[in-house]
Amino acid sequence: MTLPTTAQRIDGNALSSQLRGDIARRTAALRARGLIPGLAVVLVGDNPASHVYVRNKVKACAEAGMHSVLEQYPASMSQADLLARIDALNRDPQIHGILVQLPLPPQIDANLVIEAISPTKDVDGFHVASAGALMVGRPGFWPCTPYGCMKMLDSIGYSLRGKHAVVIGRSNIVGKPMALMLLQQNATVTVCHSGTANLKSHTLQADVIVAAVGKRNVLTADMVKPGAVVIDVGMNRNDAGKLCGDVDFDGVSQVAGYITPVPGGVGPMTITMLLVNTLEAAERVAAE
Ligand code: NAP
Repeated sequence: MTLPTTAQRIDGNALSSQLRGDIARRTAALRARGLIPGLAVVLVGDNPASHVYVRNKVKACAEAGMHSVLEQYPASMSQADLLARIDALNRDPQIHGILVQLPLPPQIDANLVIEAISPTKDVDGFHVASAGALMVGRPGFWPCTPYGCMKMLDSIGYSLRGKHAVVIGRSNIVGKPMALMLLQQNATVTVCHSGTANLKSHTLQADVIVAAVGKRNVLTADMVKPGAVVIDVGMNRNDAGKLCGDVDFDGVSQVAGYITPVPGGVGPMTITMLLVNTLEAAERVAAE
């Protein structure tokens, strides 16, 4: 049975291709001045999902007319060797953005590696300098996934002023920066997590809900106020092995005003915002 739906979809693929058109134009303008935006992607180890992610990032760079290098190292790589590579990339004038794909093998301290990336090339936005800049509202690189969510809200002309936003999840890469971005746009923000008592009592009051947990069906129709905007960051597998989000899409679609699908929602936007950050890193160099 096909259920009737009321929510409008926010299509991450369509929005991405629109934004990537603009990225390609700005990249071409830089190239005409002799500067090719360059991204270095560093992958350590054999995590199969990481391989897919880095391939997609490198491919997106090529499609936008950007330069990219993929550096792949064995899982046995030492921390000192990785730090030496980061140091070289920090000094490489052809590289404007550096991304170290996580997770890293256990002998490597991911925090130390991220802090070794120059904040001027931190296009993932994970460096404490980037996190601090977001916190105090100064220019810096915003983490790509929550940045993409903000673009999705922008795309429907949604004004956050006076709205109540509930973020489910408080990771450093999604939940916390998401909450800060929403706050910066004058939403009243509630952050929920695994210690939150009665999640539903919070989500039912929300005009905007961002689900960033990593568990299926964290958000169901009975937890959503009619007309709310629902952004699904989660990436999970259902029983059939198909990609799905944190939100019960079919159920919530009947209550929400807007909803993002999985796949085809936040996922493509994340890569698009990585391109935006890399382009902006190169544009800042060009403006020096
Ligand atoms: P994470 O680091 O595991 O954080 C998950 C958060 O969810 C934590 O803050 C945790 O609370 C909270 N949580 C766990 N169970 C909960 C529950 N029952 N109710 C409320 N909160 C709960 O994950 P992440 O890196 O933020 O990623 C979240 C999801 O987004 C994952 O599915 C990931 O694959 C996906 N993701 C997608 C993209 C994309 O491009 N589409 C990018 C990044 C991540 P505690 O802090 O208390 O443990």
